Amino acid sequence: MKPVRTRFAPSPTGFLHVGGVRTALFAWLVAKQASGKFILRIEDTDKNREVAESEQHIMQSLKWLGIEWDEGPDKEGSYGPYKQSERLATYKQWAIKLIDSGRAYADPYTAEQMDAFRQEARDNKQPFLFRNHRPENPPIWDGSMPLRFKSDPKTYSWHDAVMGDLHTGPEVVDDFIIMKSDGYPTYNFAHIVDDYEMKITHVIRSQEFIASVPKFLNLYEALEIEHPILATVPFVMAPDGRKKLGKRDGAKDILDYKREGYLPEALINFMALLGWNDGTEQEIFTVEELIEKFDLARVQKSGAKFDDQRLLWMNGTYIRNLNIDRLIDEVKDFWPASAEVYDIEYKREVLRLVQDRLKFFAELPSLTTFFFEDLTVDTSLISNNKNLKDLPNDKLAELLTISQDKLSNTTFKADDLSQCLNDLLTATDSKPAVLFSVLRIATTQAPFSPGLAETLAVLGKERSLGRIKQQIETLHGALD
Ligand code: GLU
Repeated sequence: MKPVRTRFAPSPTGFLHVGGVRTALFAWLVAKQASGKFILRIEDTDKNREVAESEQHIMQSLKWLGIEWDEGPDKEGSYGPYKQSERLATYKQWAIKLIDSGRAYADPYTAEQMDAFRQEARDNKQPFLFRNHRPENPPIWDGSMPLRFKSDPKTYSWHDAVMGDLHTGPEVVDDFIIMKSDGYPTYNFAHIVDDYEMKITHVIRSQEFIASVPKFLNLYEALEIEHPILATVPFVMAPDGRKKLGKRDGAKDILDYKREGYLPEALINFMALLGWNDGTEQEIFTVEELIEKFDLARVQKSGAKFDDQRLLWMNGTYIRNLNIDRLIDEVKDFWPASAEVYDIEYKREVLRLVQDRLKFFAELPSLTTFFFEDLTVDTSLISNNKNLKDLPNDKLAELLTISQDKLSNTTFKADDLSQCLNDLLTATDSKPAVLFSVLRIATTQAPFSPGLAETLAVLGKERSLGRIKQQIETLHGALD
């Protein structure tokens, strides 16, 4: 058995999103599982579509996720260079081999001539096939014109590790450009040469290439090389399930997830389940489990729907299970500005309280600002609260005054506070939904907060009582 070698071969034409990275992840998992090698190859042969910084961005995204490559543009291996623009001499050699064996020819046609051929096919209600227009005496290829593969149309049956057994007729095999007039090869040609030269055993790629596979098979034959295992990963679909996920449907730059405070391991887990499962109901997988269990044969054939709520849930689950030291470290750039003057111990206490609610780190300010700065009283919090809105202000002020009094006599330790709050329910003859809501609003100026006793304990006596006083004054002010 040949050592397993898989590759991710992005074109540097923009940022990486979930769809692209998931293909990389599957290829990486296959390599890791077999203790093989994962190769990163930059397919930069289309200079018109190239986007500056894209290559760096791709590498940063993969690194952040932990999808490390064994060989690549910045990592030497035996089969480099790993950037197609640096391999032009290789493609030329293979192109010449095809010319010599009569399987490639210079394409002499102008754009107008090509249009006329296409129009003719339309007029005859026939599909356009270039091979019906092969020039009788093609010029010698000098690089100034495109070079075309001379196909040998036939039926094909092949096995795709995901899609199963596939069949096509000769009509889908046509002559195609292998070298462009700018000196660069086309994807259709270059990837075949590179996969062969780089000893790739599994070509794992997106569904958009599946229709081209018969052409590729024809080219493999002409080059007299065996094709690797082919595995077609279904599209990641937009949330409505109707079209391929695109920027407009919420496909974000992978590094945006980093900026918003997602954990790489949560994204890996989420992406692995876009079109794959292990046959059980299990949803949370460590990377090690994924490496052990991933199986191309269990990748579904149909598109996998992108569900950002599921990602949010999954990220929240990972955050909840994070140990507090790692969490402290992860959130260091996400605190509200007012947290800067507070010591790490206080922040740790705050974090412990909100850890369960935190779905991504950029939410941290909205969940914690009240721990760090005093906020002005927001009267709408009471008028929008269904348990409080019908109570008169003097009643609310009275509840707070009694609470203020009792709370000032506790140690402000969470246990004592719990006891005191329970006693207050009896003393004021209130329901928790009323008393605790008004206290919560007074001390946090937020509609939700962690447990009241724990929140008060972290805020401390002075601050909590000061805020209750301020709320009472506002309620009285409204009465005057
Ligand atoms: N360069 C192609 C792309 O970015 C790669 C396809 C493949 O994996 O062969 O879509």
